[in-house]
Amino acid sequence: MTEHAVVIAGGGPTGLMLAGELALAGVDVAIVEQRPSQDLAGSRAGGLHSRTIEVLDQRGIADRFLSEGQVAQVAGFAWIPLDISDFPTRHNYGLGLRQNHIERILADWVVELGVPISYGREVTGFAQDDTGVDVELSDGEPLRAHYLVGCDGGRSLIRRAAGIEFPGWDPTISNLIAEVELTEEPEWGTRRDALGVHALGRLEYEIRDGEVVYMDRGPVGVMVTEQHLDRTGEPTLRDLSDALIAVYGTDYGIHSPTWISRFTDMTRQAASYRDRRVLLAGDAAHVHYPVGGQGLNIGVQDAVNLGWKLAQVVNGTSPDSLLDTYQAERHPVAARVLQNTMAQTALLRPDARVDALRDAVSELLSLDEPRRRFAAMMSGLDIHYELGEGHALLGRRMPDLDLVTADGPLRVFTLLHDARPVLLDLGEPGLDITPWADRVQLVDAEYAGSWELPILGPVTAPTAVLIRPDGYVGWVGDGTDLGLPDALNAWLGPPLGSARG
Ligand SMILES: Cc1cc2nc3c(=O)[nH]c(=O)nc-3n(C[C@H](O)[C@H](O)[C@H](O)COP(=O)(O)OP(=O)(O)OC[C@H]3O[C@@H](n4cnc5c(N)ncnc54)[C@H](O)[C@@H]3O)c2cc1C
Repeated sequence: MTEHAVVIAGGGPTGLMLAGELALAGVDVAIVEQRPSQDLAGSRAGGLHSRTIEVLDQRGIADRFLSEGQVAQVAGFAWIPLDISDFPTRHNYGLGLRQNHIERILADWVVELGVPISYGREVTGFAQDDTGVDVELSDGEPLRAHYLVGCDGGRSLIRRAAGIEFPGWDPTISNLIAEVELTEEPEWGTRRDALGVHALGRLEYEIRDGEVVYMDRGPVGVMVTEQHLDRTGEPTLRDLSDALIAVYGTDYGIHSPTWISRFTDMTRQAASYRDRRVLLAGDAAHVHYPVGGQGLNIGVQDAVNLGWKLAQVVNGTSPDSLLDTYQAERHPVAARVLQNTMAQTALLRPDARVDALRDAVSELLSLDEPRRRFAAMMSGLDIHYELGEGHALLGRRMPDLDLVTADGPLRVFTLLHDARPVLLDLGEPGLDITPWADRVQLVDAEYAGSWELPILGPVTAPTAVLIRPDGYVGWVGDGTDLGLPDALNAWLGPPLGSARG
């Protein structure tokens, strides 16, 4: 029987990111992916938001994505553009890059880190006991893991087999999306009518001066809102033709589809992200309408939150209860995304009164304070994990400061490349972390600049910060080490020889 510490079902963006995080922490992890290769039919996500670019930067791989995509202001709310160019981040923009490229780059990284990806195999079920999980595969080969993570998308078999409820809202909109060829010149661009939003465009495009400029040849991407919500099963060329005729009066002679898919605004979230040794992340844990382009982003960030925690539990340095903080921190983030997508969907409904409401919201969002709040929400820069009372940095993302150390200049994110926690001592050296010395990097540094956070603006300079491997601040010092042992205990596990909590 093959055994791994962690088996990940699904090698989409979430599963790949999680595998990378676990591999960095030295965990024996394997991915089982039902697709025959990493090739992804069709286009899904169109890019990355600022916070996701930051987390990739924390691992030293952001440039791989930036060099292949188009940097642009991509944040928006119900298609109302939100500029983040004045935000205090090195990546005060988003990135236009299609999901197939995002997955390819992530898969290359994961393979470099030595993670085996088993393509063309499907997880068909599992049985868990006190010590591990027997994972059932489509080819019958036995596989066992200490933990199984379902990163297997919105229809997650892992979620269903674990009996985890998926409450939420049924769809009110159904869209067909396809890549086809046309014999006639269509009406290019976006059309909004009583049925909803529809769009026809060349797939290949460039962004010039912040504007999308489509190529004048090549395959065509079609997105059309369907008249009926009751269609189920795999969509056909006939379904697409019918939907186009209902909207445009013609199907423009569509033929040779390379991909046809259906997506809706079904909005659901797993009631629990964990059942003992089985966890969920990404679309397996939450689904929503793609407006605002957040799904892939929050899936990747679920993985970055879960990875180091699962690694510490598997490696025996932290108690199993650390995994409970994964749901406590990430469930509210996705719940908020579900809410904002429902609000956006409502604002995009084809109705003169809703148009008037959207115009009013647009006017509000042109004011600085609302713009900053919504832009920080849509770009993921406002995430605040509830870690209790204290300094504004507590539970928020650590800014990528330019530090000065005895060895020269250093960016904070560089310290996170290996996904190890960092205790940054910015005051008089002297913090004693002896019992945890093998688990945290203690870095003495100076920083003379201002401390500025998205939305909040300038905050008081701390004298020390404990930065978790995911880049969020787990403790803030104000000249003393008050609370530091508790924070080290909570985030890195109890020192050797002491009782586990
Ligand atoms: C039209 C559209 C546009 C979108 N645009 C954006 C956007 O601009 N920005 C954004 O952030 N998000 C966007 N999204 C959402 C984004 O595509 C998803 O949120 C993202 O793919 C989720 O990643 P994931 O890895 O969690 O799941 P998935 O990408 O669904 O990956 C799951 C993987 O698991 C595999 N799998 C499934 N079942 C099994 C099994 N039993 N055994 C083994 N493998 C299995 C699948 O083959 C798949 O590779 C869009 C979605 C759509 C439909």
